[in-house]
Amino acid sequence: MYVKEIREIIQDDYKIRQAERQLLTLGELTATEVINPCHAQVFFRRVGKFELNEDTLMTVEHGSILHDWITEHLASKGLGRYSIRKELVYNLTIANILIRGHPDVIDLENSAIVELKTINPVGMAFVKMRGEPHLDHLLQVELYMFMIHSRTGRKFSGSIVYISRAKGYYKGIEVKDLEMLEFDIKDYEPKHIGFLQGKAKILSDQLRKSIEENRMYAEGVVETTRNSYARVFGVEDTEYLWKCRFCEYNIVCPWYARYREEGLL
Ligand code: SF4
Repeated sequence: MYVKEIREIIQDDYKIRQAERQLLTLGELTATEVINPCHAQVFFRRVGKFELNEDTLMTVEHGSILHDWITEHLASKGLGRYSIRKELVYNLTIANILIRGHPDVIDLENSAIVELKTINPVGMAFVKMRGEPHLDHLLQVELYMFMIHSRTGRKFSGSIVYISRAKGYYKGIEVKDLEMLEFDIKDYEPKHIGFLQGKAKILSDQLRKSIEENRMYAEGVVETTRNSYARVFGVEDTEYLWKCRFCEYNIVCPWYARYREEGLL
């Protein structure tokens, strides 16, 4: 009897966050939009009038609920390493685009920022196996570090903390409930920042064209999980396709349908 109501509460939570995204103007991007390998997903989330994959949405929300719970409790402590100033938002204008950055944790005392990533056990086992963070997560932290440095003149270090949402195994690697893995990033890489500045400009132009001319579906207008990092970082162009499985818009996405037809998903 109450399952329906609980599902609706969870769905409403997503809608509230989506409504916040829709308040952004075409001249503004969030740091998470800039690092997103898929510009189509940014478009879907900004426009918000498309049908959602409700099951995938639950997975997205599962991560968000755990993420928000942890950051709120860290903020309420305000002590030790994690002396949080959650209200601090670092904005930076690059090529007439206002980029809004909001790290999960800003530790002013130790000049450090922390980004929390909730992750399923397969994803966690994969990160453990590789021994390095996902490229988009690394770029996100580097972008925050660059933004803070540009705004304040202070160099901050960064950390990415992965938190598993459940226990499981993948390729013989065990992951425990709420297992955590931390990666420290001493400084940002200027060539990564150069890539992100160029990407922000491309994303901003594509978003404007897609929304104003309603031509998101035209071939070549958007970058997707298939190609946006591959050209620059030399990773396989299928490296980020797994993100499509967890995308709440995959049921309406023409690229998702195409990748499935091609047997890539
Ligand atoms: S399904 Fe994949 S290609 Fe389509 S919007 Fe989502 S992440 Fe992008």
